[in-house]
Amino acid sequence: MATKNISRPYTIAQKLYVFYIIKGMLINLRRFFSGLILQRNWTIQYPEERRDYSQRFRGAHFISVDKNKTENCTACFLCETVCPAECIHIVAEERDDDKNPDGVWKEKKPLSFDIDLLRCCFCGFCEEACPKDAIKLSRDYEMSVSNRDDAIFDLAHLKREINGRG
Ligand code: SF4
Ligand code: SF4
Repeated sequence: MATKNISRPYTIAQKLYVFYIIKGMLINLRRFFSGLILQRNWTIQYPEERRDYSQRFRGAHFISVDKNKTENCTACFLCETVCPAECIHIVAEERDDDKNPDGVWKEKKPLSFDIDLLRCCFCGFCEEACPKDAIKLSRDYEMSVSNRDDAIFDLAHLKREINGRG
């Protein structure tokens, strides 16, 4: 198929790019003085101030627990199966009913449950797929880590107390 080359020559103003630099600087100056005089702030003083994120915001994962601090997860592997990023890794084991005094029989529990947040795209599919409402995404957006291993949340970390739980 033939291709058509379209040439769009630069205008004189575009060739004199100084014009666009001045235009950009004027925008910055306008923002600067409107903040200074009108007290219109475009940024917030994080971390002292925090934005109120939407209720639908999907942040760091957690696993809900019952009154005995036992995870509600039954190691059914649905979240691991549905995850498009393949970042959930579960090892299941049989649950000892003696350690489950709430009387609800659960056949399995996770021996280990890891989520690699560097692979996660926060789609929320795991939360939607979970039949036990065990895995959830909180509104916590502070997930900075200093090495790659810390970005892998294990079961103990997923069971932590966290804002936005529930
Ligand atoms: S939010 Fe999406 S990508 Fe992240 S662990 Fe859940 S299913 Fe996987
Ligand atoms: S978190 Fe939910 S979906 Fe994932 S293994 Fe546990 S019970 Fe199944």
